[in-house]
Amino acid sequence: MLVVQKYGGTSVADAERIRHVAGRVMKRVRSGDQVVVVVSAMGNTTDELIDLALQVSPEPDPRELDMLLSTGEQMSIALVAMALRAMGQEAVGLTGQQAGIFTRAQYGAGRISRIEADRVRAELDKGRVPIVAGFQGITDEQEIVTLGRGGSDLSAVALAIAIGADRCENCKDVEGVYTADPRIVPSARRLADLTYEEMLELATQGSQVMHNRAVELASVYNLPVLVTSSMVEAPGTLIHGESELEERNRVRAIAHDTDVAKITVRGVPDKPGIAADLFEPLANAGISVDTIVQNASEARLTDLTFTLARKDLRRAEGLMPEICTRIGANGFAADANLGKVSIVGVGIQTAPGYAARMFRKLSSSGINIELISTSEIRLTCIIEAARVPDAVRALHDAFELEKAE
Ligand code: ADP
Ligand code: ASP
Ligand code: MG
Repeated sequence: MLVVQKYGGTSVADAERIRHVAGRVMKRVRSGDQVVVVVSAMGNTTDELIDLALQVSPEPDPRELDMLLSTGEQMSIALVAMALRAMGQEAVGLTGQQAGIFTRAQYGAGRISRIEADRVRAELDKGRVPIVAGFQGITDEQEIVTLGRGGSDLSAVALAIAIGADRCENCKDVEGVYTADPRIVPSARRLADLTYEEMLELATQGSQVMHNRAVELASVYNLPVLVTSSMVEAPGTLIHGESELEERNRVRAIAHDTDVAKITVRGVPDKPGIAADLFEPLANAGISVDTIVQNASEARLTDLTFTLARKDLRRAEGLMPEICTRIGANGFAADANLGKVSIVGVGIQTAPGYAARMFRKLSSSGINIELISTSEIRLTCIIEAARVPDAVRALHDAFELEKAE
């Protein structure tokens, strides 16, 4: 079997864990599998590098910031390769460039355009384990670009597709994908499998366990991804295209996010083109807007509310006065302290009653719902950030997620 194994920051946080990861990789290779490893930066290295950059510049130059951040993963590849060699296993650390991972800039938000995997294949053929730096690639102009936070998941999936791996294994400090974040719900249960759609919804709604673009890419190429433990031998959670009949009728898992802000624009004239005039300047500034709710209009004036990531609120607030003037709105108000909680499952689309149960449970827990959004397989309530953990626990209980499927 040919596999790509990705180890996240927690799994390579210190020398001991790096030796542990090397030991696992070696065992796997000795068992006869071909393994390519993708690693993230150690522990909180990326956060620390960002802090450092902010100490020398209030707005670090994006090119140099990527130059700096890419060093985090470069440390990890060297250390994991060294540890493997010390165990007598041939290995070679490769930067994104050396591994042939080509990206299109935007700095800090690169997109993988292609992978020229000849070097990785050649190393495998020589019996060496390639240890590839995640989160980074190179542009055709030879500039280093990072892929956005959590981007090593994406590097691993893309590399697995490029070399025709049987699957990608995402090795973490948890034993798979749980019915909710186990840090919030200790009784959360590991799921044996999930569909790409379900994992994509969970990832997009805040579950850190896998990067949403990585799930999307795996789904397009039908690449199975096993989310599993980097610490112990565990069966993990298989993310793939099929769903069991019995699972169709349930809520599978709960995702949460405590990083939500909202802006309400008041007294917006109700005429065609207004929504475009409102959202275009935000999109041009790279601010993505999530849930949008427009109230029914009264006297041809309406209120429009939308949510966005808290980190983007300051910039959005800076743009709003001009937007309000241009569209003739009365003004706007912002709320920075929101969060969201979502129930996800392919069964939601066919069975009625999930929404009512969710709203009832939140209300009986004294949690006020600010906004609601849905997809075919998801229901999301925007609530006060401070109540998010309570909401997750209450819903986990209401949908009996601790019970075996
Ligand atoms: P890595 O460094 O390996 O990329 P992350 O820290 O990004 O790992 O993601 C793992 C964390 O995601 C876990 O420690 C866990 O607390 C959190 N998490 C959130 N939701 C879930 C979930 N549904 N199942 C498992 N872990 C989850
Ligand atoms: N080190 C990067 C980050 O912290 C990439 C990753 O961990 O996937 O975002
Ligand atoms: Mg991660």
